[in-house]
Amino acid sequence: MSHCPFCKKKIAMSKAFCSRSCKENYFQLIAIQIPKLFMKRIYLFCDENEREQEILEFASRHHWRLDLLRTKIHNEAVRMGYIDEPAESSK
Ligand SMILES: [Zn+2]
Repeated sequence: MSHCPFCKKKIAMSKAFCSRSCKENYFQLIAIQIPKLFMKRIYLFCDENEREQEILEFASRHHWRLDLLRTKIHNEAVRMGYIDEPAESSK
């Protein structure tokens, strides 16, 4: 068995993704670039409301899907040590 790289569902070895939408989401997610300074600003200098506002503006400025951008920012924040990995993402 293998795992879908986007949703982590188990899939057959012969498949790369579990669905077409996972494949599209996966490559969109890779395409999203988040500057380190942006991460630093929203996590060190913004409260939760300001961070939310920054994320909304960032998504609309670059025409990225908000849910994917949130996922990417979350992953980056964990990677950069701004937040702890929540239990639910280890499912
Ligand atoms: Zn999937």
